[in-house]
Amino acid sequence: MSLSGPIVMKFGGTSVADADAIARVVGIVKAARDSSGLPPVVIVSAMSGVTDRLLELTGAAERRLDAHVLNGVAELSRRHFEALERLLPAEAANDVLADIGADFDDLRALLKATGILRSASPSAHDAIVCTGELMNSRILAAALAHNGVPTAWVDARRAIVTDNVHSAASPRAEETREAVGREIVPRVAEGRVPVVGGFVGATPHGVTTTLGRGGSDYSAAIIGAAVDSREIQIWTDVDGMMSADPRVVDSPKVVPYLSFGEASELAYFGAKVLHPSTILPAVAKDIPVRILNSRRAGGAGTTITAVPPPATRPLAAVACKRNVTMVEITSTRMLMAHGFLRRVFEVFERHRTAVDVVTTSEVSVSVTVDDDARLGDIVEALREFAEVSVEGGLAILCAVGDNLRCDPRIAARVIGALEGFPVRMVSQAASRRNVTIVLRDEDLAQGMGQLHSEFFG
Ligand code: ADP
Ligand code: ASP
Ligand code: MG
Repeated sequence: MSLSGPIVMKFGGTSVADADAIARVVGIVKAARDSSGLPPVVIVSAMSGVTDRLLELTGAAERRLDAHVLNGVAELSRRHFEALERLLPAEAANDVLADIGADFDDLRALLKATGILRSASPSAHDAIVCTGELMNSRILAAALAHNGVPTAWVDARRAIVTDNVHSAASPRAEETREAVGREIVPRVAEGRVPVVGGFVGATPHGVTTTLGRGGSDYSAAIIGAAVDSREIQIWTDVDGMMSADPRVVDSPKVVPYLSFGEASELAYFGAKVLHPSTILPAVAKDIPVRILNSRRAGGAGTTITAVPPPATRPLAAVACKRNVTMVEITSTRMLMAHGFLRRVFEVFERHRTAVDVVTTSEVSVSVTVDDDARLGDIVEALREFAEVSVEGGLAILCAVGDNLRCDPRIAARVIGALEGFPVRMVSQAASRRNVTIVLRDEDLAQGMGQLHSEFFG
């Protein structure tokens, strides 16, 4: 049964980078509101580059680069107030100016405290980095209201309830549903468009948390599930999910339809256009997710559903992840003793490091990690019971498509397309929805190009 709740529209950083981009978004939201009975729920990211800058300023505050921090905050403040000035006449901007002024006061205080302590606690860190979303959502709400769209700014920290894993928080579904029922649903019923900052939430005690980089997509899906949304729209700067990363391959094509399973694999293996957790709440409620271009609002984009129309191509798309490290762990007892794999994975778990690709042989297991922050400690712990070698400078290439399940020749064609490249690992998941290949980072662009032209040329 399809759901009938409001559409959720999420706008990413480049879609709201400045006054012109925000004005385009106002037009898109207005059109959506006019064409459907229910107002949409709008989720918005920080202006592009702002989260990076806030992270950099946190690091600078810890090193007591006080003048640099003050200049950085002044620059951010100029950028936000300039956008506001261009979007609203002064007389309409009083309230929002005061609110954003207060956000900047908080930001300066948090950075000052970070400097004094020479360290940002995880909660201070999240309170700093979410400022971009809080301010930008206020600006978008004010711009919509000024353009005749009845709006309600919603503090995301009162709507998304999470655990306390700072910088990578997970939502608590039941409590979030209750909070969204209190903070967002009544606004929609009043005919107003709720505008919510993405990326941020809070624990049940009200401590600010963030959902991980790129997490505004996740916010959209969490809120979409909580309002029984009939569609979650991810508005971005490309025409949809492309057949390959446009930063790596020339002229990839838009993929019109994907299954939830295909989209999760692509997001997990590097298709940055979608945060990897976004699909989970959508699957739970069977809500279609669409990826659309805010600069070309008329396009069809990509539609992601449980059962898409039959694919015309053997693969849905290819994705890639750079800067990957491979760890090869060999049992010192010749054969893999009982419990060896458990011990290996316990080490990675203890150090909160996810492994992406895994292959095993009789005496060894090879894994890849893309976060090498704890690698030194991990290797030391593994050496207590195994021989360990580490190879950096690698990349993962992942070919994805539900059709891989029914036609074994496709996997052979994927591997054949990479003939001549020194391949370090090959793996196919039990779901057989992907073939994953690890090769040298220096071979990635050419390998991706060859693979892409084999299937999409
Ligand atoms: P937003 O700010 O809207 O969240 P992101 O920068 O997070 O946007 O994601 C969009 C970017 O993802 C694109 O500009 C593109 O460079 C990158 N990308 C990587 N792989 C893909 C892919 N397969 N399809 C589309 N975009 C991709
Ligand atoms: N602004 C956050 C980031 O840059 C979240 C997002 O844009 O999705 O990671
Ligand atoms: Mg993003």
